[in-house]
Amino acid sequence: MLKPEHIGIAVKDLAISIPLFEKLLNSQCYKTEKVESEGVNTAFFKTGDTKIELLASTDATGVIARFIEKKGEGFHHIAFEVNDIYAEMERLKNEGFILLNEIPRPGADNKLICFLHPKNTNGVLIELCQQKL
Ligand code: ZN
Repeated sequence: MLKPEHIGIAVKDLAISIPLFEKLLNSQCYKTEKVESEGVNTAFFKTGDTKIELLASTDATGVIARFIEKKGEGFHHIAFEVNDIYAEMERLKNEGFILLNEIPRPGADNKLICFLHPKNTNGVLIELCQQKL
């Protein structure tokens, strides 16, 4: 059973969205982190057992910038925590899901991550994440 770890929300400007979500969630942003390899600046909020991750593009051509151009700001992905990302990637591949990266890559929050293609998941972008050891 996969356990939700966080929900990713694409935003244009963290300087606007961090105070907005602090008000909305009645919870302070506890961490911001730039993930150079993904071209994103992230901001995290604790919400019970899960987290909200805001994602803003570091430049005009990044994946988040292109996502917002197409769909606007809003829900971007749901991330599920796994203990063994390699085993889970293998399992999902065998189930016919398409992995967007064949090798786990470093994500925010000291995680290894892998995304599944939304065309096989009812349009939902799914992230698998495993705490880096
Ligand atoms: Zn994420």
